[in-house]
Amino acid sequence: MPKASETSLEINLASLRHNFEYLKSKLQKNTLFLAVVKAFAYGSNAAIIAKTLQGIGVDYFAVAYISEGIALRKAGIKTPILVLHPQLNNLSLAIEHCLEPSLYTLKILKEFERVAQKLNQKNYPIHLKFNTGLNRLGFEPSELDLVAEQFSKTTALKVKSVFSHLAASEDSEEKEFTLNQIKLYKSLSATLIEKLGYSVIRHLCNTSGVLNYPDAHFDMVRCGIGLYGYSNSAAEAKNFKPIAALKSVISQIHRVSEGNSVGYNRGFISSQNSRIATLPIGHADGIGRHFGHGVGHVSVRNKKAPIVGNVCMDMIMVDVTDIDCEEGDEVTLFGPKFSAEISAETANTISYELITGISQRVKREIVDY
Ligand SMILES: *Cc1c(COP(=O)(O)O)cnc(C)c1O
Repeated sequence: MPKASETSLEINLASLRHNFEYLKSKLQKNTLFLAVVKAFAYGSNAAIIAKTLQGIGVDYFAVAYISEGIALRKAGIKTPILVLHPQLNNLSLAIEHCLEPSLYTLKILKEFERVAQKLNQKNYPIHLKFNTGLNRLGFEPSELDLVAEQFSKTTALKVKSVFSHLAASEDSEEKEFTLNQIKLYKSLSATLIEKLGYSVIRHLCNTSGVLNYPDAHFDMVRCGIGLYGYSNSAAEAKNFKPIAALKSVISQIHRVSEGNSVGYNRGFISSQNSRIATLPIGHADGIGRHFGHGVGHVSVRNKKAPIVGNVCMDMIMVDVTDIDCEEGDEVTLFGPKFSAEISAETANTISYELITGISQRVKREIVDY
């Protein structure tokens, strides 16, 4: 295992393949797999993640925005790419780069149709998103007739899939709500397909949906967090391998005697003779100021060192009084054996936020073992 000599996010492709195979093992043989690689593949490296998954037979990718899809095309990704949240201002770029938009309002549907016409498109693939309870994006079920009618009037567009998104697939206390979403989705997708007169791909489940609602996989599933090694479930955690490890090093160790302070605004006052290590990672790297003052810790020589005082822009300080360590030692902020779920919980956030928040200043190091 390489030792970190600077702050870096180590991305393990072997773990990615493991998570993909595990999620696949939950599916029927002919269920399609869409990999969600938005937000730099959840803070890792979208191009490398997508290339790896393309090589092992992923059927679809999804990104949030058109610019993210363009970056994947420029990196040589040929697999179909669904854009979950395209904006009205650059729809022609989607067509230029063979990106398939999710259309979620009549306004964007009509505008995309106009752009596709103008670019002489025939049967350009689009995806229809319906709102079944998340109340975030999507046509209302009551708009179904109007939506279907648009497709009887155009030859520029063709519906490739119809989908919706679950609001609480990880929460067993919301099972009844989720089952209602599934029921509503099932009936509206059937009606839509009947009205269109051709079959389209149906998809509803994210990672937790795949794990918790095996009867709702339909024709395709959309997995993000599971691919990156988090399951939103303590019982499932052992089946996944977090692909990213955030590592840093000890730049300097200070002896701080009792009553002396550490960091800006004297955020930490030592209650004993302490050893305080400074690490080259701060809030500009994604370690937010909700950490510090004892919230959150790092691992030094397999021991927990609490983050003390205020998180600075480029540095944090950790208490290593009880750890036999020295300057230059490697430090882990999160990783396979020191899960981001644990550190996220202590800072009152979720793995999704912690891993997507690691800023682009942190070097990505690709490993495969
Ligand atoms: C982000 C996203 C997903 C992936 O969800 P995970 O919980 O990360 O698996 C799936 N579908 C939609 C619409 C999303 O926005």
